[in-house]
Parts: sequence; structure tokens; C-alpha cells
Amino acid sequence: MNFSFVLEVEIEGFVVVGRATANKKMRLSEQGTESKATPMEMDGRMATAKFDETGRVHDLMPLYYGRLFPTNDMYRWLAYGHDKKHPQADQEFFQRREFCFTLEGDIFCRYQSFKDGAELLAALRDKVPEKIDLGPIYNVDPKRRAAYSSLGGDRVFAPVERELVFDVDMTDYDDVRTCCSGADICGKCWPLMTVAIQVIDRGLREDFGYRNLLWVYSGRRGVHCWVCDSRARKMSNEARTAVAEYFSVYRGGEKAEKRVATTHDLHPSLNTAFEVLEKHFLEHILPKQELLENSEQIGKILEMFPDADLRATLEEKLQKNLEKKESGRNFQDSVELWQELERAVGRKKNRALFKALKDVVFVYTYPRLDVEVSKHMNHLLKAPFCVHPKTGRVCVPMDPAKADQFDPADVPTVAQLLNELDEHEANYGKENAVKGEEASNTSMGKYMEMFRSAFLDGLMSDVKLEFAQSAKVANKIADATKPLDW
Ligand SMILES: [Zn+2]
Repeated sequence: MNFSFVLEVEIEGFVVVGRATANKKMRLSEQGTESKATPMEMDGRMATAKFDETGRVHDLMPLYYGRLFPTNDMYRWLAYGHDKKHPQADQEFFQRREFCFTLEGDIFCRYQSFKDGAELLAALRDKVPEKIDLGPIYNVDPKRRAAYSSLGGDRVFAPVERELVFDVDMTDYDDVRTCCSGADICGKCWPLMTVAIQVIDRGLREDFGYRNLLWVYSGRRGVHCWVCDSRARKMSNEARTAVAEYFSVYRGGEKAEKRVATTHDLHPSLNTAFEVLEKHFLEHILPKQELLENSEQIGKILEMFPDADLRATLEEKLQKNLEKKESGRNFQDSVELWQELERAVGRKKNRALFKALKDVVFVYTYPRLDVEVSKHMNHLLKAPFCVHPKTGRVCVPMDPAKADQFDPADVPTVAQLLNELDEHEANYGKENAVKGEEASNTSMGKYMEMFRSAFLDGLMSDVKLEFAQSAKVANKIADATKPLDW
């Protein structure tokens, strides 16, 4: 596909369509506030729950953008304080951010930009994207990139800052999952994401000193982390790569034991991570994945122990236990078997075997990052509060301190939210809804609260502090350069 060609055409189309379809816009915004004109209702399927979970997610998106998408909060975040009449504020900051809309039919509209939240909202209602990606802040408004570059000289359209981002996807754990594979997730494998959040969150805060971290459920099978400290946003691609590599314990290779790059003396950060990993391994991963009650996993785990005698003894024991389980007789579960394995290693008193025990824990629990996403400033990443076009689930923010309480099955779908909105209006009347805050009357409310309390409030106070500091510096410079009047 000629990617850039599609983009250019779409960008032109966007400007023209945006001006030429005032009527269409009106219709959409009416739908946005008036929930009477939905296709489902016209089908005559109107019941107490008007919006059908099995219907097409895209049909609900005009209403979602019109009534629920938190444009104000998104704008507050992405403007980083440059939204007020502050002497230090860069009024074009938000407008230099690239938004990429994916329209129905996989049509990419890259290099979209907006003056403020209101303009973003108008575009969302007009274009009804299936997905919104966020790109970097460029040196000029991305819409003006061609005109800028054509001026020649050293004028090159280029990204200048962007959040440091991390992407953890459950599909990368397929070789250590016994419950599902591919895009599927369940309560047995989700703890792997909990571990990833806890390990990466701790590392970013304690080892790198970052403070403003936004964690988001990707809507289906993974999580994203946005590091929003200004120090992280201004990092070069090389520095981003170094941070991503810091969190990459795996070094490729076919077999699990070859992919773990730990040494006898673990880096202090890996030692700290190990405490979290081991706890989750024993409490969740081993019992839920039943790792030592699965032929394939038994083979992989035993291969990691460099002692043929130990392997042979354990292999026999574990296979016998498996036969018992399969024939419905009394058997030992994976946690008991792991304790036996530890005892067997203890009797051997061999350092390499002790290391193998740790390696198993690392291989089966350590976060697996898609490092390519983190390495480049101009990599696009799906925006929080998008709706997954297949599952209909909202990409809600997560509180890393409560990661172990997060259940993806609880995440509301767009149909559920719209039904809740209607129900709330039926019970309390429309006049009770505060414009722009309608989400607070639905199950999205608690996620909005958390977005603010676990992320946005802290970010805003840091931003305020930075503005105050730069104002102080500016004043000092002004004082120092003031002509002396004696
Ligand atoms: Zn699963």
C-alpha cells in the first residue's frame, strides 16, 4: 500500500469535508446529545437496554464521541499547561501534536492537528475514527509540514518531543501460557500483565526517577504506559532505546533457557524485580497456569536445569503425577511440585541449579516489551479512551498501585456505557447531567476519577512547578539585563 499517498489524500479530504458537511456535522452532534436517533432504535429493538452488545461497535461511536469521550481531560493532559494565558505558555504546543485517525476500512489519516480540545472534539464527531493514535510534537504544525519543508534551508519537519511509551502485549507470552493464545486473554493469564505493570512501574519510578506515569488497558490483550515527565518527553531515540533495553531481559533465541540473560549476580534492579516476580509466580502463575501439570511446559522447565540426573528423576516424577491427574487419581498440584523441585535442587548444592530456579521464574513472569514501540519518538500509539473496534471495550486508564485488582472483564463496553447514560437520564432527568461530565454517571466515572487522581493531578502540579521555575529564571535574566540607571 502506498501509505503516504493515502495520508495526503485523506488530509486534503479532511479539510474540505470538514467545511462542506455542516449539515452532516449537525446531525452527528444532535445524535451526540439526543440519543433518539440510533440505528438500533430504528430497528424496532428498543427495550430497556437499547444498545446491543452484539451490534456493530462503529455504529455507537458518534454517541460515544459526542457524550462520553473525555476531550477536556485529554486536552489538559496533552497541552501540558500550554492551554492558559501564561507568559511561558507556547500557544501552539497542542497544535504541533500529531493525531492519526483510523477510519472505517483501515484508512489512515496521519498528521492531523487541532488548535484545542474543542477542535479535536468537532473532528471526532465529524470523522468518527475507529481508532485514534497519538504521535509526537513536531517543530511545526504537522498540517503545515509540506509548506515548511519547501522553504528549504535547514527547515526539516521533525519530531521534537514525545512521551516515552511502553507496550506490553499478551501475544508475546504465548510460549508460557497454557490457557489461551493469540489475542485471547483470561483470568489465568492476566496476572502476567499485573506483574509487567508492577515491575516496569517500580523500575521507572525508582531506578529512573520518573513521576508522571499513565497506565492504560489497551482494550483487548495488553497494557500501555506513557511516561509524561518533561525529561522523558524530550529524550532522544538513543536514550529511549537504552531505557527500553534496560527492561529487556530476553535476548532472543528459540528456547526459553537461551532467552534469559541473567547472570549469577543479578543487577540490583533485577534482584528487586525478582521479589515481585517470585511472589506472583508462586501465588498466581504456577497454580493458574498449572505449569508442572502440563507435558510441554514440564519439558521446557526441566531443560533449564543443567544436571542430567536431576532432570531424569524429576521428569519421571512429574510424568507419573500427570498420568494420575489425567486418570482422575490423587495428584500433586504445581505449587507442591515446585517445592519438591526446590528441595531437589537444594540437595544438589549446585550454584548453576539455584540460578536455573531463578531463571524459570524470570522466563515465566518477567515483562516482555515490544521494544520497537519505545525506541522512536515518532512511533504512533493508540490513545487512551479509544474504543477497541472488535471488543467494544474502552481503553481505560489503570492505577498501577491497584494493578492486581484490575479485571479486564470489568472494563465497560461502549454499548454498556450508553445504556447506563440512558438509564441515568430516565431516573434523574437530562438537566442533572453536567455537560462534558456525563461519563461520571456511568461505570466510566471511576476510571475518569482515577485518571485524574493517579495521573493528571500530579502531572499538573509538576507542570505548574516547571512553569514557575522557568518564570523565575526569565525574571532573573530580565533583571540581569536591565540597564543600570545610575
Ligand atoms: Zn488465558
